[in-house]
Amino acid sequence: MFRGDQKKSHNNNDKNPDQIGTNVDKNSNHETAYILPKQLCTVENQKVIEQELRDPATRIPDQFQQYYLDYQNKHQRQFLKCVNFIGQITFLSYFFVDWLLIPEIGMLSGISRIILVVCAILINGLAFRYCKNIKIIDSLLPIYVAAAAALWLSLLMLSHSPIVTTYIYAAVIFILLGNLCVQVSFRNSIFTSLLISAVIFHGVFQLVSLEEVVLFSLIYVPVLLLSMYISWNNTLNSKRNFLRVLLNDWNYYALSELAHTDELTQLNNRRQFLQVAEQTIQKWPKYNLACLLMLDIDFFKNINDTYGHDVGDEVLRVLAEIARKEMRHTDVLARFGGEEFIALLPNTTLEEAITIANRLCRTIESHQICIKDKFFFNFSVSIGVSQLQPNQNDLSLLIKNADIALYQAKKNGRNQVAIYTCE
Ligand code: GH3
Ligand code: MG
Ligand code: MG
Repeated sequence: MFRGDQKKSHNNNDKNPDQIGTNVDKNSNHETAYILPKQLCTVENQKVIEQELRDPATRIPDQFQQYYLDYQNKHQRQFLKCVNFIGQITFLSYFFVDWLLIPEIGMLSGISRIILVVCAILINGLAFRYCKNIKIIDSLLPIYVAAAAALWLSLLMLSHSPIVTTYIYAAVIFILLGNLCVQVSFRNSIFTSLLISAVIFHGVFQLVSLEEVVLFSLIYVPVLLLSMYISWNNTLNSKRNFLRVLLNDWNYYALSELAHTDELTQLNNRRQFLQVAEQTIQKWPKYNLACLLMLDIDFFKNINDTYGHDVGDEVLRVLAEIARKEMRHTDVLARFGGEEFIALLPNTTLEEAITIANRLCRTIESHQICIKDKFFFNFSVSIGVSQLQPNQNDLSLLIKNADIALYQAKKNGRNQVAIYTCE
């Protein structure tokens, strides 16, 4: 239950975003820290994730696809950039092998390798800067590999050296390089494996006899399958890692909600109130005006004794709901203790606070609690109001003063509002 939905009701000048520093701020901080928006943090989704993590072929459920890609975009980009760079250096360095084994293509190999790497650097420069689609970034290297394989096999076709029939076995390096670096989507790996293999077999068919193609296949296919398996495993680990991070987020969120929230009413608890209220009144620029309401249910012990503890709990929930509806989202509302509630109203004059308190009293006294669909009763609250003095930001004094005013309201006969005055 999120308290950011407290409704605006008692003040027209309240929607100042700078002032969202109370319970809403608390929630919006979470929002920026978590991968998923809170509306997706449901128990059903949590079960779906746990189920997927148990599944040996983990998949990312559709509703999380975009978040998965965003997450990978944030965390895999740097790795893919490095691997791309290393791949290009490797490709360039194999020029020496060409040059030593088949000197006649050495020069051409050097020039064409440099041209291809320069093209790759240019494309990478643009892609890593402007492309936000991690699937495209993930498939860049395998596509360069296919181009590199095409180039290398074309060079071999220009050669008349007998060593070519043996040298073609080095083609397995292309499929290894193409597949081992895929991190995000196994589907990419399938497509690029098909592309690289098509390029390689197209070249090999032209370079060697059919028997040698068969022999080449016997070596190539196991390497292809092994590299695809590793690629599948890499992408599986990426998915699992993402889902585990989601679950961690969830647990953290649930724990922090538990630590901040009163279980019965789902309002802030006392600790959270003190923390958020303190931050609110210490905030810069300071509120010139702030008031505090302290509410206490009248004769609550009687309600418990007469109707039972369950009905007492229901009264607490109803009061929380009514108070929540009366508050703006900038107000900090909390269950302060047993049947005591508290609300800090920033940017509120004493007159406005008294009006709000009186309206709360009236709404509460007119609300009927229904027991077993047939019996109704009313309850009331007493409210103490105190005001933050100019240039003063002592929360404990503000609370103490509201408490004194509350005591006065009880003394004056309950179901009413009392205001703290200095004298
Ligand atoms: P007053 O008008 O002076 O405030 O009288 P009161 O009966 O409301 O005050 P008192 O402090 O004597 O009683 C408060 C009661 O609130 C006693 C306690 O059992 C009850 N209470 C505290 N927390 C809970 C709760 O979570 N659920 C329920 N049902 N009762 C609670
Ligand atoms: Mg009390
Ligand atoms: Mg009471």
